[in-house]
Amino acid sequence: MTLEEVTRAFSEKSIQSFRARQVYDWLHKRLARSYDEMTNLPKLLRLELSESFPITHCETELKQVAADGTMKFLFSMEGGDYAECVLMKYKYGYSICVSSQIGCRMGCRFCASTLDGFKRNLSPGEMLSQVYLAQKEAGERISHIVLMGMGEPLENYDNVIRFLQLVSNEAGLNISMRNISLSTCGLVPKINELAQLHLQLTLSVSLHAPNDRIRNTIMPVSRKYKIEDLLGACKKYTQTTSRRISFEYAMLSGVNDSDECADELGSRLKGMLCHVNLIPVNEVAKSPFRPSSPERVKAFAGIVEKYGISVTVRRKLGSDIDASCGQLRRRRNTEGGIQNDSGS
Ligand code: SF4
Repeated sequence: MTLEEVTRAFSEKSIQSFRARQVYDWLHKRLARSYDEMTNLPKLLRLELSESFPITHCETELKQVAADGTMKFLFSMEGGDYAECVLMKYKYGYSICVSSQIGCRMGCRFCASTLDGFKRNLSPGEMLSQVYLAQKEAGERISHIVLMGMGEPLENYDNVIRFLQLVSNEAGLNISMRNISLSTCGLVPKINELAQLHLQLTLSVSLHAPNDRIRNTIMPVSRKYKIEDLLGACKKYTQTTSRRISFEYAMLSGVNDSDECADELGSRLKGMLCHVNLIPVNEVAKSPFRPSSPERVKAFAGIVEKYGISVTVRRKLGSDIDASCGQLRRRRNTEGGIQNDSGS
């Protein structure tokens, strides 16, 4: 709920409005997990609130810490579901990768999140809860968010937009929209809808191939939305929002990493307000895909840059802890439990 909504709900129960601000601060700034922690509220009121407005949040089921400081969490949600979330340490601070769904129905062949199918959408509160709990675990403020965990955020559109509004709200954690990235595998109508909101976030589009022929073999969504239409929507998005799009490109050895692919990608994106992010993929157990060699990634980047496009190679973080989305939950589901590195 927004502060205004909490104030309204409190006034319907004849609770003074300043109490709404107090509760909101406890929940969103001091990250309280129960009314009992809100010691400046009278005991009777705390009791009344816990009955009328129960607080739901996730719990840490597993925590893994990589040598480079990356933290991976498996959070348990109400109803026995598990959501994954990764906390990455950069020079500028902590960036969190949040899940938007339990499982995913998009079926990208290189992704572990899709292997057990789709279960349900996460609510805005469940997404916020991942950020708050991870921040508590890290003991440091999270400054950046990427919606790139388990799930296709634009398939859970209304809840994701609500989450974005709450997490960027001044009365809440107040994370700037400019520090938030939303990743999609390319749901064209939803990209068009998102453009109309003129949010200052960064849209990341998982392209992973320069044409439909290759894309069809790794991303089933491309059978529904052709690359021509997807790039058309992306172009319109940049024109409407004046925001640069980031194209994500997982480098899969022998699949999409040839010089020809780099040329085709460069010529398709030439002139667009965009950036290409090459991703050296983590190995996924039982996946038929292998990561491209560092030399191949470098050569590929060089060719795309010749088309006047800025290219970066994503730093590989947490490869020793199953840090790609879906890997940890999958191990939890298939093995019934895994070693907890942190002891939490
Ligand atoms: S890459 Fe993203 S959209 Fe594709 S299956 Fe994985 S979670 Fe879903």
